[in-house]
Amino acid sequence: MITPTRKEYMKKWREDNKEHLKEYGRKYHKKYYPKNREKLLEYYKKWREENKEYKNLKDREYNSRKRQDEKWVEKERKRGREYYRKRAKLDPGFANRQFKERYRNDPEFNLKKRRYAVKYAKKHKEKKMVWVNNYSARKRNAEGSFTTDEWEKLLEKNNHSCIFCGTKERLSIDHIIPLSKNGTNYIWNIQPLCRSCNSKKSNKVLLNT
Ligand SMILES: [Zn+2]
Repeated sequence: MITPTRKEYMKKWREDNKEHLKEYGRKYHKKYYPKNREKLLEYYKKWREENKEYKNLKDREYNSRKRQDEKWVEKERKRGREYYRKRAKLDPGFANRQFKERYRNDPEFNLKKRRYAVKYAKKHKEKKMVWVNNYSARKRNAEGSFTTDEWEKLLEKNNHSCIFCGTKERLSIDHIIPLSKNGTNYIWNIQPLCRSCNSKKSNKVLLNT
């Protein structure tokens, strides 16, 4: 029988050996997890379902702290990333599966990710355009270069439209003073033009004033 003193003693022992126990648990998990993944996942899922109240409480706690404590949020994010990295090492498909499951089952997450993908594709299209422009300007010994951010700011300033005809389709990078007339490739010599206005302008100096 476990006497109160014995219980006290065990509790104290666990307290004193907390780090050691944690380490032991980690090692055990590392060995045990890959072999019993399916079983464990099933167990976790069941646990979550049976303890929904607990999870809701934790979520509420988390959200209220999130609003108040920026430093803590940063710390938690770091911890999350660390956790992901470790899990991914043990189980290479982990992050991918996690993502797919959430993408399918969490409408908010799904929408966020889809919006992000559109933005990402757009951003990369611009990035490539700027890269190609800078590359060919360098080849033609033009002075200067600009960044995707600068180009995007310029687009924003011009409402993402051609400054001659106003269309939002097929925008291209135009040098106000053409490179062939010794114009530079700095952002202040750049304007967004649609392809058709750009080809009409060809190598003339045209300013929309
Ligand atoms: Zn145009």
